[in-house]
Amino acid sequence: MTQRAVDVVIVGAGPNGLTAAIVLARSGLSVVVLEARETIGGGCRTESLTLPGYRHDVCAAIHPMGAASPIFQRLRLTDHGVAWLPARYALAHPLDDGRVALLSRRMDETTASLDGDDGARWAAMLEPFVDQSEAFFDEILRPVRIPRHIGLMSRFGLLGLQSSERVQRRFRGAAARALLAGSAAHSVIPLSAAGSAAFGLVLSVAGHALDWPCARAGSQSITDALATLAGDAGCRIVTNHRVASLHDIPPSRAVLFDVTPRQVERIVGDRFPPAFRNALCRFRYGAGVFKIDYALSAPIPWTNAACAEAATVHVGGTADEISRSEAAANRGVISDAPFVLVAQQSHMDASRAPAGRHTGWAYCHVPHGSPVDMTARIEQQIERFAPGFRDVVLARHVMDPRAIERHNANMIGGDIGGGANTLRQFLLRPTLRWNPYSTPDPRFFFCSSSTPPGGGVHGMCGYGAAATVLRRVFRRPMPDDLRV
Ligand SMILES: Cc1cc2nc3c(=O)[nH]c(=O)nc-3n(C[C@H](O)[C@H](O)[C@H](O)COP(=O)(O)OP(=O)(O)OC[C@H]3O[C@@H](n4cnc5c(N)ncnc54)[C@H](O)[C@@H]3O)c2cc1C
Repeated sequence: MTQRAVDVVIVGAGPNGLTAAIVLARSGLSVVVLEARETIGGGCRTESLTLPGYRHDVCAAIHPMGAASPIFQRLRLTDHGVAWLPARYALAHPLDDGRVALLSRRMDETTASLDGDDGARWAAMLEPFVDQSEAFFDEILRPVRIPRHIGLMSRFGLLGLQSSERVQRRFRGAAARALLAGSAAHSVIPLSAAGSAAFGLVLSVAGHALDWPCARAGSQSITDALATLAGDAGCRIVTNHRVASLHDIPPSRAVLFDVTPRQVERIVGDRFPPAFRNALCRFRYGAGVFKIDYALSAPIPWTNAACAEAATVHVGGTADEISRSEAAANRGVISDAPFVLVAQQSHMDASRAPAGRHTGWAYCHVPHGSPVDMTARIEQQIERFAPGFRDVVLARHVMDPRAIERHNANMIGGDIGGGANTLRQFLLRPTLRWNPYSTPDPRFFFCSSSTPPGGGVHGMCGYGAAATVLRRVFRRPMPDDLRV
């Protein structure tokens, strides 16, 4: 590419890089996005991974945070081809006795699926957040700061800073405990760890207030909408351009990195002070993910039919079993009974598979960088709650942590969260700085999911970084229509 000077260069065209690009270009700046791969989108793409006629979300599939994202709402993604498709239930969590705990928009459906008084306890715990869900997600999807809604967020902090295991003890029965544990396990940290409860609470509130939708025609539609908006705003996106050092970046007044701290440290090198380089090197990456995409001849034959009506099914049995599986992955040990997250996009979106056929999307957490093939273990877990599952599998596409990292250099060791969600890194990502998007060099900024508010397809890391760059480098206000 030419070395013509631009205002801003963004390294990486994931959802956060693209969101930052749109915001900065709409503010009147010239923006170039450099993407290592031949296609853009990072963890938000859809491809035909198995058989003709099947469309699979390669990474992100289910989008409670996308639907809640203040910047996606300002950008009107839904006017640019994105349709959020909910299922009847956000989440189903089957148990061995045939029962299923359900996370539903209707609180009464959830409480009825729990044991005895646990329904009332569940509602009492979550309703304060569900009732103020707009304010809640407005606070959650931002850097840690003095909240605008102090009462609400103090209540959240008191619960969320605890371990999931501790909050689960509020419930007597297996169903509520398992329902919370499964959502908390999205943190990819042990459920005994402080702060793991926050993930369970946020995802449960999202299930009651917003659904857990997939995107019509695949997560790719989100990337396509962002690309259209970026193009309309005048951004130039250059693919097949891996940035290995500062020599690969054209002259600009600001560079935003939609990559993780380890990569930024390598790219910027000794332009950063040694202490900051050390801090970036100390950034911790979490357990990995082993993922399978399925082409299916029929719906997954769940024993409890309610599971077929859920966007996501958490397959792992009781809260104790999930705790053991997540602790193992974090200790570097393979679990023989892993906690498996299953998404069923073709139930919400007929475009994903030929008529009458279905897709399946499943992953489990494994030790960082693990080479172990988890296919049999994952399928054994699904068979436990859907006997005959293997009989409906026509084809499968498998990615271990190393393949996931090859697909996207950000997913180091298969870590899909942009870094471990330990309490410290959850609150202070990527390093301890007043402005988390900034670095000691006034030209360089982070904008990836290694910054607040963290992993997921919501663009809010990109938005936070763009707001910082506008203010600090260009002394320009955020355009009114993009202010969130
Ligand atoms: C298996 C899996 C399942 C997931 N499920 C969900 C889900 O259901 N819902 C959800 O919300 N999130 C999910 N996620 C997480 C989600 O995909 C990420 O949090 C999100 O994509 C992060 O966006 P980002 O813009 O920060 O970075 P990324 O999406 O990682 O994009 C970064 C981009 O930078 C590029 N890049 C990397 N290095 C360089 C370089 N040196 N030079 C140039 N370009 C470079 C990459 O190719 C990539 O395109 C999942 C992820 C995976 C892998």
